[in-house]
Amino acid sequence: MTITPPKYDVIVIGGGHAGCEAAAAAARLGAETLLLTHKLETIGEMSCNPAIGGLAKGTLVREVDALDGLMGRVADQAGIQFRVLNRSKGPAVHGPRAQQDRALYRAAMQRELAQQAHLTLRAEAVEDIVVDRDARITGVVTARGETILAARVVLTTGTFLKGVIHIGEERISAGRVGDPAEAGLANTLQDRGFRLGRLKTGTPPRLDCRTIDFAGLKRQPGDDPPLPFSYLNDSIAQRQIDCFITGTSIASHNVIRENLQKSALFSGNITGVGPRYCPSIEDKITRFPDRNSHQIFLEPEGLDDHTIYPNGISTSLPEDVQMAMLHTIPGLEKVRMIRPGYAIEYDFVDPRELWPSLQTKRIGGLYFAGQINGTTGYEEAAAQGIIAGLNAAIAAGGCDKPFILNRADAFIGVMIDDLTTQGAAEPYRMFTSRSEYRIKLRPDNADQRLTQKAIDLGGVAKARRLAYENKMRAQDLALDQLRRLDASPNKLSKYGIRVKHDGVVRNALELLAFPEVDQQQLAKMWPQVGKIDDNILTQIRIEAGYSRYLQRQSADIDAFKRDEGLLLPTGLDYGRIGGLSTEARNKLQTGLPPTLGAASRIAGVTPAAITALLRHVKRLDTSAPDPR
Ligand code: FAD
Repeated sequence: MTITPPKYDVIVIGGGHAGCEAAAAAARLGAETLLLTHKLETIGEMSCNPAIGGLAKGTLVREVDALDGLMGRVADQAGIQFRVLNRSKGPAVHGPRAQQDRALYRAAMQRELAQQAHLTLRAEAVEDIVVDRDARITGVVTARGETILAARVVLTTGTFLKGVIHIGEERISAGRVGDPAEAGLANTLQDRGFRLGRLKTGTPPRLDCRTIDFAGLKRQPGDDPPLPFSYLNDSIAQRQIDCFITGTSIASHNVIRENLQKSALFSGNITGVGPRYCPSIEDKITRFPDRNSHQIFLEPEGLDDHTIYPNGISTSLPEDVQMAMLHTIPGLEKVRMIRPGYAIEYDFVDPRELWPSLQTKRIGGLYFAGQINGTTGYEEAAAQGIIAGLNAAIAAGGCDKPFILNRADAFIGVMIDDLTTQGAAEPYRMFTSRSEYRIKLRPDNADQRLTQKAIDLGGVAKARRLAYENKMRAQDLALDQLRRLDASPNKLSKYGIRVKHDGVVRNALELLAFPEVDQQQLAKMWPQVGKIDDNILTQIRIEAGYSRYLQRQSADIDAFKRDEGLLLPTGLDYGRIGGLSTEARNKLQTGLPPTLGAASRIAGVTPAAITALLRHVKRLDTSAPDPR
């Protein structure tokens, strides 16, 4: 008797931040989805620091939430200290961040997935993928030899592909501490011709808070009240805690310098490229020899957890040197180290192997998301996961139009465009400066940019749709009201509102754009303004403040969209296009950009090459549907 293998619409491999979002997104669209991961109890595990969000990363979380993803909701349930970073600067560069209770985060993520219809979770390592003669994926093979069928598979294996942990001279094969590395899939990808590279990242030692002397250290409280990530939440129920700040001393730097050759990073044992902007403490003292101290944030890993994460001292020094270094830090003189810090090296796939849908160019139906694509960070992983999951489900449903966010839609669009056109020479993390339209792509308005798109796809639960529709109705009403309330400079001055005495009658919306005009003053003059919901009024005020810049930017966005709208046919033979330099031809042939806009962003493709390309494409029939 032959046994028919089980079959799903979508299989997601890996229960990290990319995998959770991918699986939930595919299932929300109604695809029968299977999530396969090493251990069910590590679903939602934070491999490094227990915090979600931050500069630019907070915007990614908001965007994932606006698409009805999980990360924002889960972080609100498990958040124990919320802070908006960069608050003194404009709202476009605010960075919502929340310290997390590691165990609560895992539990909340696992609860969300368990409740998701159309989603099955199984603890199983995947050893290989099955690909047919037409280079289309048909399923996966588990470590126990079982074949499971699916025509769409999302691979989200994080730092696990040929992962090696380094602590001083010691090397351990692992995906992260306590979890096995993965070799089978890495070999398969290599055999199939995928371009693989090697990257590295690191984590600091973990400390026992009962052995820290907090008395002389600077206390760092969170925001009061805490600002939730999710557009579904008005407040945070979790008890909030303080963090503390200390710093390395000259003695710490001496210990590190004396032992630098024992660090895996400096002994030549590590070949992978690390994140420049998240350097190890060895890197910091080497790069900045004149600095006498580097700041360390002491961040609790949970409400009922004695573990402290010392943010700022990731290291791959031997364990005894880490201990000696810690004892030279104020407050940590008698600290007990629970676990040493380490560096990890792993394989990643050149993300130029992907279409913007995150489907691979080599194997149809196979998608990659998360750290496997050369990114670093939970938020970057989650943001790719939701796009890959949505696209896998859309394709499984028979639709050939992928869901793609472009650079003018979202930070998610910026990140995926950067990755798929430029690749990742070092671990990629999101920065606000990567976005040319950051005045528009703010953390406060992610729902207004993205939720309707997700509703149109059918990937949004009813509660979110209703909340969004109610908010937009209330906002439209408020805008209408604010436009109808107006006053002359004379009348305004009677209420203490100072504007230029130019005789111009200004409405309340225009007045909100002036930073010096206080909302309370407006409410005194027009009591209706005082009745507008605070969140809505704040949002309107931000938009009003940026309105002049936004108008200017919209012409650039129109030009950008024109180029993005020009699809380059798949199978374009760049060898036949006259007027291309050899460099431009090679770059285009390797990158296979899906649009003229994407072609123009590939380094080495000049404006002259773009003109030649445009001339060539205009002569072709491009009416065929785009399969990417
Ligand atoms: P992961 O979270 O790694 O999840 C991968 C999942 O895939 C795991 O659940 C694993 O069990 C599963 N899996 C792997 N292979 C298989 C298989 N064959 N079959 C089934 N399941 C499989 N980010 C920062 O932003 N800043 C930092 O300072 C930082 N430091 C880090 C330090 C360390 C030591 C590590 C390990 C990571 C660090 N990161 C840091 C990165 C951050 O943890 C990742 O970016 C993020 O977790 C990536 O999410 P992911 O979903 O891609 O992969």
